[in-house]
Amino acid sequence: MSDGTVSPAALVARAARRGVGTLALTDHDDTGGLAEAAAAALEHGIRFINGVEISVTWQAQTIHVVGLGIDPDHPVLQNGLAATRSGRIDRAKRMAAAFDGLGIHGTFDGAAALAGNPRMISRTHFARYLCDTGKVKNVKDAFRHWLGEGRPCNVDQEWAGLGDAVSWINASGGVAVIAHPARYRLERPQLRMLLSAFVDAGGAALEVVAGSRQQGQYAMFARYANEFGLAASCGSDFHSPLESRDLGGLPPLPAACEPVWQRLGLD
Ligand code: AMP
Ligand code: MN
Repeated sequence: MSDGTVSPAALVARAARRGVGTLALTDHDDTGGLAEAAAAALEHGIRFINGVEISVTWQAQTIHVVGLGIDPDHPVLQNGLAATRSGRIDRAKRMAAAFDGLGIHGTFDGAAALAGNPRMISRTHFARYLCDTGKVKNVKDAFRHWLGEGRPCNVDQEWAGLGDAVSWINASGGVAVIAHPARYRLERPQLRMLLSAFVDAGGAALEVVAGSRQQGQYAMFARYANEFGLAASCGSDFHSPLESRDLGGLPPLPAACEPVWQRLGLD
């Protein structure tokens, strides 16, 4: 429902084919796909966890905080997500203006057409549009040249506060997880500050095994999780068969970790 290319039901079917036993759907800032995914999970015999991935700004950096086991109908969570989504269309217009300035026109309409869900227009849709129109050869290159942090068409956005996002997740009965910690440009002391602030806010877990750019660092993040009393989660970060590592392909959590699903009462 945010920036995946596969429908929730098709995603669950794909996970089942790939041998996944437990799955959370975690759209960015939106829970509109959960009912469809839950119904498909029932059909395929997969254990399903309601999820969301909230965009957070912490010390001028974008951090993603996943909520697992949330109640998608909880008003505190829904109000928070609506507020978090609200700046996306304006931001997309500013990104399009930056592309216009570089002589690349039509990106707003192009990205919006790919978004399907206009309230969730994201950099990924711009990247896909640039791919489809032959401006870059893949999504990664679009981020490398234009859309990544510090690149000319990235527009920083003030997302939710860290404490706010964690409190919305907790209010709705979920547990909060810091997603893909290897992805942030944080030196170790800053990462410790983030984890400490997250724990103080009521955060529960760290994504120790992640699909994107984290291979080789699992043991290090397992140590951080244990040091800060955080449980560990495992996230594929699957967005698309063409762009992502596939579902069900990640190694198990390191043995020293407490799996996050135990905090959800699952074995
Ligand atoms: P947004 O919420 O609009 O800032 O877009 C965030 C999305 O951009 C996330 O779903 C990421 O998967 C994607 N993204 C961010 N950086 C990169 C990158 N370097 N390569 C590919 N995708 C990226
Ligand atoms: Mn993310």
